[in-house]
Amino acid sequence: MIYLDNAATSPVRPEALQAAWPWLTSEFGNPSSTHEPGLRAKAALEDARAQVANFFNAKSSEIVFTSGGTESINQAIIGLALANPRGKHLVSSRTEHQAVLASIDFLEREHGFETTWLQLDSAGNILNFQDALRNDTTLVSLMTVNNEIGTVHPIGELATAAHEVGALFHTDAVQAVGWQELDVHALNVDALSISGHKFGAPKGCGVLFVKSRVQLEPLIHGGGQEHELRSGTQNVAWAVAIATALELLPTSDAEIGEVSRIRDQFISQVLATIPQAALTGDATMRNANIASFVIAGINGETLLLELERKGILVSSGSACAAGNDEPSHVLLAIGIDPDLAQTAVRFSFTHATTEHDLQLAADALQECVAKFV
Ligand code: PLP
Repeated sequence: MIYLDNAATSPVRPEALQAAWPWLTSEFGNPSSTHEPGLRAKAALEDARAQVANFFNAKSSEIVFTSGGTESINQAIIGLALANPRGKHLVSSRTEHQAVLASIDFLEREHGFETTWLQLDSAGNILNFQDALRNDTTLVSLMTVNNEIGTVHPIGELATAAHEVGALFHTDAVQAVGWQELDVHALNVDALSISGHKFGAPKGCGVLFVKSRVQLEPLIHGGGQEHELRSGTQNVAWAVAIATALELLPTSDAEIGEVSRIRDQFISQVLATIPQAALTGDATMRNANIASFVIAGINGETLLLELERKGILVSSGSACAAGNDEPSHVLLAIGIDPDLAQTAVRFSFTHATTEHDLQLAADALQECVAKFV
């Protein structure tokens, strides 16, 4: 079996689980307790926080542990918008993940916010960003990397432009971890969200970075843990796991460059052997680990099943939308015809994916498509 659905979720790294294990078993203290087991749990939590902060070039006080990407994003968007009532105007893109779209929808429905949806080109790149910004713009939220088509946005430039009109900037960096430079100073963001299960930590852990002195209204109320921003007894084991998984990520450009190389080779092979296939997303401003296509004339769901029979596991796009008959909102937002959007297939890799894996996947795709058309 060749698993090429790593943008949906990735295998847990054994080292992350090993590091977490004591905090699930013998070291069960509550980090808020003042006895020895509690103090040890607190020390492990704070070490994990310092490791995460170091990864993002942030301060420990700017790191909040959460239950995952969706919670981090809800907390960032709703929390920043409600705590900074400078205006009620938001800026975002229709290609964002449902966690962003639904948080914005909530602000519109319940708090009277108004949103400007950015214009996009056919590869999902943002057009005329400056035109969307207003003096009453409270918050801009844009993803670093699109999870379905892999297009990368120039977050540093966009955040700087947003700050010029006094708006705050949040980025959903869930798909960028391990692939893009995530130094929060270079990105110039006020908040950034990530999710552990996309890079080798277990499901159900995430991080929210919130810049010092930026006001955030908490969504979860209680004992005031996590710098008063996210109440609830912390999951020390998963904090340790996410910090460990971050440290295991390759840091050299060469390793990421190698994945880009085999991805490009894979894309070239697919386009050369399947005339009906078209690449979705930007050809160059593209995350190294995502190759996504639409293939005219095929049935997307049947194709996925055929590929699975051949031992290749992929998806049609977002795992959240799988099983849903609607075409992908991302593909519709970049102007792809709804029927064609139903034929989407996404291959997503890890740093461990090999050239041989992708050769087999390209051959299997060609055979499956040949069967249908
Ligand atoms: N944002 C993006 C871009 C994603 O790909 C995902 C996961 O699919 C999420 C947010 C949600 O993360 P989680 O599954 O941790 O809630």
